[in-house]
Amino acid sequence: MKIIDIINNTQKPRFSFELLPPPKGKDINLIYQAIDPLIGYNPAFISVTYHREEVAFKQHKNGLLEKKTIHKRPGTVAISAAIKYKYNLVVLPHIICGGFSKEETENALIDLHFLGIRDVLALRGDPIKFEEKFVPEPHGHSHALELVQQISNLNKGVYLDDELLNTTATSFSVGVAGYPEKHSEAPNLSFDLDILKRKVEAGAEYIVTQMFFETQKFINFVNLCRSSGINIPIIPGIKPISTFKHLHMLPQTFNIDIPEELVNQILKCTTNEEVKEVGIQWAIKQSKELLEFGCPIIHYYTMGKADNIVKIIQNVF
Ligand code: FAD
Repeated sequence: MKIIDIINNTQKPRFSFELLPPPKGKDINLIYQAIDPLIGYNPAFISVTYHREEVAFKQHKNGLLEKKTIHKRPGTVAISAAIKYKYNLVVLPHIICGGFSKEETENALIDLHFLGIRDVLALRGDPIKFEEKFVPEPHGHSHALELVQQISNLNKGVYLDDELLNTTATSFSVGVAGYPEKHSEAPNLSFDLDILKRKVEAGAEYIVTQMFFETQKFINFVNLCRSSGINIPIIPGIKPISTFKHLHMLPQTFNIDIPEELVNQILKCTTNEEVKEVGIQWAIKQSKELLEFGCPIIHYYTMGKADNIVKIIQNVF
């Protein structure tokens, strides 16, 4: 079953969650430790992020700086397959344009298809550190739209090498990202929605949103999508705040607002444990509002930690 089938056939609302591959050098058991506490609550699917290489500078004793490229969290394809077969679950690997030529993308998609994975979230990826704007690989994609088009072509048996004969068509279902508070680079929301609509026309079957902390912003976004002719399911993404650091880091990284009421509640806390509890209660409130609005699935950003998500699930589903 694919995610779109789960959405269309679910009788009662479900949840899903996002995991990060473990840092390089760590064990896959870190992933299983994040999944195990949640598996009994019947998640609809698990998504696995993709992390492209990062640029770092190492200072030598003579003062010279050495530029290093490091891939801190490899393994998205392998981890997705490991989760699928260990837990018999639907997985959603994230595929990004950044760092990939079209051919490397095609090969990654072929690997996923051979592994029996049929869902992918097609994304552009962010610019790497020290780059002012996103720079595609030579022969790579500039925007997620082109990635969706490539996957749709593969689904028709159209590979990059047009001399290939009697090709096997893949059967991926594609999800794409949506931004209730607008993508940071888009000049305005209507521009962003126009791009989103083109991704849908290119073959995307559902949208997973960036995190947001005011349910009304999601509702407004859904209404705007519908009036713009974007009629596919929209899965809200919820991130429970869990540390003081999030107060500044999340808005900076994800171009989102944290409402005053939530900020005030966090500022009253004296420990990160208290912040975590505030985050859980806020996420429970948001989740209940989203279910009331009629969302069939709510997606949770775990950042690798399950304990707060377990509490939310116990109170909502
Ligand atoms: P796009 O759809 O390409 O849009 C990027 C920007 O370009 C937007 O401002 C858009 O309006 C504009 N644009 C798009 N197409 C065109 C066009 N043809 N002409 C002009 N402008 C255009 N990042 C990762 O690196 N790994 C992950 O695993 C990951 N997972 C994510 C999961 C979710 C649910 C979300 C919401 C984001 C995730 N991201 C991830 C972050 C994402 O890669 C960034 O937000 C990225 O900056 C944009 O990705 P996109 O797919 O929305 O890009």
